[in-house]
Amino acid sequence: IGILYVVATPIGNLDDISTRALSVLRDVALIAAEDTRHSARLLQHFGIMTPLAACHEHNERDQGARFLARLLAGEDVALISDAGTPLISDPGFHLVRQARAAGIRVVPVPGPCALITALSAAGLPSDRFVFEGFLPARTAARQARLERLKEESRTLIFYEAPHRLLECLGDLERIMGSDRLAVLARELTKTFETFQGLPLGELRAWVAADGNQQRGECVLLLAGWQAPSDNSVSAEALRVLDLLLKEMP
Ligand code: SAM
Repeated sequence: IGILYVVATPIGNLDDISTRALSVLRDVALIAAEDTRHSARLLQHFGIMTPLAACHEHNERDQGARFLARLLAGEDVALISDAGTPLISDPGFHLVRQARAAGIRVVPVPGPCALITALSAAGLPSDRFVFEGFLPARTAARQARLERLKEESRTLIFYEAPHRLLECLGDLERIMGSDRLAVLARELTKTFETFQGLPLGELRAWVAADGNQQRGECVLLLAGWQAPSDNSVSAEALRVLDLLLKEMP
């Protein structure tokens, strides 16, 4: 039985590919790719001649059977997506599940992932976080999702398409409040990589004022909700204590 390798590829800077990823991509019989034309350029850059086959959202379930047959026949297959780690807001889940169910070994070859890259340099608490992927495109569904996340205390991470960024920041500001700290991480590992951390209200205004910030790829991170500080409670407690102390002989 062959091995299914799940291989991360760069999210911008091609030098981020690992030597292990390169040797796996060279050695497997077949590479299952989200967009074969896109990945052909990556492989060409590294002089890799391995044949490519499409494995995208729309054909993943059907194509799965074809890849499984090759794996069961003893061939190794690598799964890649257009950028970053497969299965992370990218296709691959059905194939990996089918492979595991068929008793095939699935081996991850880790590497770039936009959410982890963003979190590692954003300066927001990173000990506990939630990845929400893409928010729903429809306004009502997006707002409902955000309402449910309003009191989430872990750092929140979203992927967002550039043309929806402003709308999304508007909803975030309305629902989470304009003071909540957010970080916009754009064009990671690329020439115009930018990190901007500001309270939501200021971040939205900054993005609105500069069209360049509404282009390219971005990750949006949001500080988690903080329960109203205990200070207000203790201020009240102190006031009562003060009154009581005055009553004491
Ligand atoms: N599988 C990928 C990963 O591991 O991060 C994510 C694929 S998802 C279809 C694409 C989204 O990831 C983009 O819309 C953006 O939110 C984020 N992304 C990918 N590359 C990025 C980059 N270089 N800089 C900022 N965000 C990026």
